[in-house]
Amino acid sequence: MPPLSPLLLRAQSSGIREIATAARLIPGAIRLDTGEPNFRTPQHIAEAGKDAIDKGLTHYTDTQGILPLRQALAEKLERVNGLRTTPEQIVCGPGGVGVLAAALAALLAPGDEILLPDPGWPNTSIMTMWLGGKEVRYRCESSDGFIPDFDQLEALITPKTKVLLINSPNNPTGAVYDDQVLARLASIASRHNLWVVSDECYDQILLSGSGAAPSIASFIDRDRVVSVFTFSKTYAMTGWRLGYGVAHADVVESMVKFLSSSSSSISSITQWAGLAAIIGPQQCVADMVSAYRRRREIAVTLLREAGLLVSEPKGAFYIMANVASSGLTGRQFAFQLLSEMGVSVTPGSAFGEIAESAVRVSLASSDEDLVEGLGRLCEFSSARSSI
Ligand code: PLP
Repeated sequence: MPPLSPLLLRAQSSGIREIATAARLIPGAIRLDTGEPNFRTPQHIAEAGKDAIDKGLTHYTDTQGILPLRQALAEKLERVNGLRTTPEQIVCGPGGVGVLAAALAALLAPGDEILLPDPGWPNTSIMTMWLGGKEVRYRCESSDGFIPDFDQLEALITPKTKVLLINSPNNPTGAVYDDQVLARLASIASRHNLWVVSDECYDQILLSGSGAAPSIASFIDRDRVVSVFTFSKTYAMTGWRLGYGVAHADVVESMVKFLSSSSSSISSITQWAGLAAIIGPQQCVADMVSAYRRRREIAVTLLREAGLLVSEPKGAFYIMANVASSGLTGRQFAFQLLSEMGVSVTPGSAFGEIAESAVRVSLASSDEDLVEGLGRLCEFSSARSSI
């Protein structure tokens, strides 16, 4: 066999997938690992998908996304995110992940450096590898509320730094960057002439306050920002694979080249369902967010009582537990918890170095699973701590 490309061979597979794969082999395991909402896709959205099939809307579409969807998204971006835009500046892709991949492909050349958060969602690190880029991690410490250390971040910038990637609301920490934090990041990016890729896939999942999380595009010359959103989390549509980005028309053009050559277009059925999600009733979003808030309270109480709470998440649907007192690394803890107690959580090491002694618990699983799973996690931790 000839050699495989070293670019992907060097890339580690996602630590989230690793524990999820192990959990699938354990019958009845309680799954608190992946960010998979336990809700069904709301009925009116599913019906719109069925309708598209019945009407024969089942062919290739414009790579960028069908126009009515992009028009509705332009309206949503202004109403919810305060971003004025046009359908020409919007590009749809296969999930937020597909849009992020298109954005990085449009911006990063081999050898370019990209600043990624630590802890941070692992997929963008893997994308950087296959693009031949170089990741440089900036620290977001729990002692600072998981907000980036601005001085350390700025000190990491070199002539090769091309992109600053931020993620708020954040997976895995639950941090939500306020206006001041976004303005500081915006000024660093402008001063050093960096692109900003802003992963806002949890924009509407705020665990306190109302509305949507603020967007860095409101604080900076919009031409240098690619803002990325998804239907997966807001509408419990993970399996439909629909995300979208907003960027300058030149960036969109490059992203479309990437998308047309790799996926032609997103499923037409999915796009019509996505349109129904955006223009239909939004009560379903409020209902799901209120369930995540309730679960956050449950988890905070249980973890605080057990002395494992790191901080109260403000957005997205995850909470971190510090398991250092067990004498195990987060990774050892997660795999032993799975094999001994049948509960699956994600090791903090899946997100970088900073969270190595922590595990991430998803609040997207049902209340019952969360209570039972966290009960077993606390029991396991306390038994290990007393060894
Ligand atoms: N960004 C972050 C931070 C995520 O956690 C996820 C999914 O878990 C995504 C992007 C992409 O989600 P999707 O591709 O399902 O839209």
